[in-house]
Amino acid sequence: MSKLAEFKAFYGRIEDLKQSSSLLSWDQNVYMPEGAHETRAQQLATLNSVIHELMTSNRMKDFLAALSKENFAEESDEGRLLARASRNVEQASKLPAEFVETLTLQRSRAVSTWLKARAQNNFKLFEEDLTKIFDLVRQQADYLGYDSHPYDALHDQYEMGSTVAELKPMFAELREETVKLLKVLGEAKQIDNGLMHQAYSIDRQREVSEDVARLIGYDFQHGRLDPTVHPFAQDISKYDVRITTKYMENWFASSFFGTIHEVGHALYEQGIADKYHRTPLGTAVSLGVHESQSRLYENMVGRSQSFWQGYYPSLQKHFPENLAEVSLADFYRAINKVEPSLIRIEADEVTYNMHILVRFELELALLEGNLKVADLPEAWNEKYQRYLGITPPNDAQGCLQDVHWSEGIIGYFPTYTLGNLMSVQLFEAAQRAYPNIVEDMKKGEFDNLLGWLRETIHQHGSKYTPAELVTKATGQALTAKPYIQYLNQKFKSVYGIQ
Ligand code: ZN
Repeated sequence: MSKLAEFKAFYGRIEDLKQSSSLLSWDQNVYMPEGAHETRAQQLATLNSVIHELMTSNRMKDFLAALSKENFAEESDEGRLLARASRNVEQASKLPAEFVETLTLQRSRAVSTWLKARAQNNFKLFEEDLTKIFDLVRQQADYLGYDSHPYDALHDQYEMGSTVAELKPMFAELREETVKLLKVLGEAKQIDNGLMHQAYSIDRQREVSEDVARLIGYDFQHGRLDPTVHPFAQDISKYDVRITTKYMENWFASSFFGTIHEVGHALYEQGIADKYHRTPLGTAVSLGVHESQSRLYENMVGRSQSFWQGYYPSLQKHFPENLAEVSLADFYRAINKVEPSLIRIEADEVTYNMHILVRFELELALLEGNLKVADLPEAWNEKYQRYLGITPPNDAQGCLQDVHWSEGIIGYFPTYTLGNLMSVQLFEAAQRAYPNIVEDMKKGEFDNLLGWLRETIHQHGSKYTPAELVTKATGQALTAKPYIQYLNQKFKSVYGIQ
């Protein structure tokens, strides 16, 4: 057996453990009985520590040292596979064990005080633990290492190679243009989306969710769809990618668009090349690229006029009591209503990024020491007023709404907006390659779109960095311009503005 084949067999076993851990956490979030909480946490901790031991073992280091002498071409699968494995090993080795333990402990403490603070709507309860979290993530950034900004070290864990220096101007442009667009839309005649809040039979929502998932390409032979409170997609391996959705009787959009969103995530994982299975290249490359796939399907497909020209008759058949008398035009407007609101996860396509930019700017200020945790609620409210024209009546609906900070997850939020920006740039490139993609949607055909995404994004797994992928797929580096243009065009038309 060659050294490389031996290494792949060794690494494959680590991947098997990771996949098992994935399955256990899927179960934890979907079916596990309440009483199994502690043993499940123990099982996951054990698996993760075995994975960590193998990743940082001498055997691993020996393999990487031996293989580095084989001089694989940098762009070859082998070269990239080794580079990716080295990065994974390096990341696993950078944080001292005692630090990881301290951070883990502080996280679980902070999550429980956050829950209490949110329930009692009292930020003061959370202040001390959040301050400690930011002290610890500053240390974490030092351990991980960075060139110009500590935020880069944290953000890089989720979006390899992306930096504050690139994000800042791109996000500033997006913010200014969105604030302008929101002003114009706010002055137009408002949309009544009452039809979305009627009662829609849950059983039939379930049928429609499965139907639309299958229609746009989700492979139920290698996946399944279950109900949960917090929807997500979980890859066990590319042969088993599961999704969940949330059925709400009075908000049919939750299950419908939620399902399409998670299918977008799942198509990515299901499309990774077979040859990368059980290797360091066999996973999605970043959260931003991941989100670009879910948002592309959710918005460019699921909230587009062409898709509904094809699918609306079928939806009307499922829900005649709700939709028989509603025109396609009214339905299309209702699903695209724009309204500044306080809660990120309920935001529409236009306002969503404003929620992210607020969090990004505050994370930076907190990390740089330009903002004290004690002053966070005021800074939060001030930004919501400035960007969205609304002020949270309390902190539970303001800076206490997300779990991320209590979990020490800093540098993650920007990946949502990066995904949005990529989604449009990618969709436009797909249309250049297959000009009929939009016409196809009216006929319920999605093969060319999926084929193009498979070809340019999915199959590559982690072989290329996010920036390389976007540039190869679209012919240029990521910018906010296509996205801004898309928002203006789509929503001015939805609101009947010339
Ligand atoms: Zn997502």
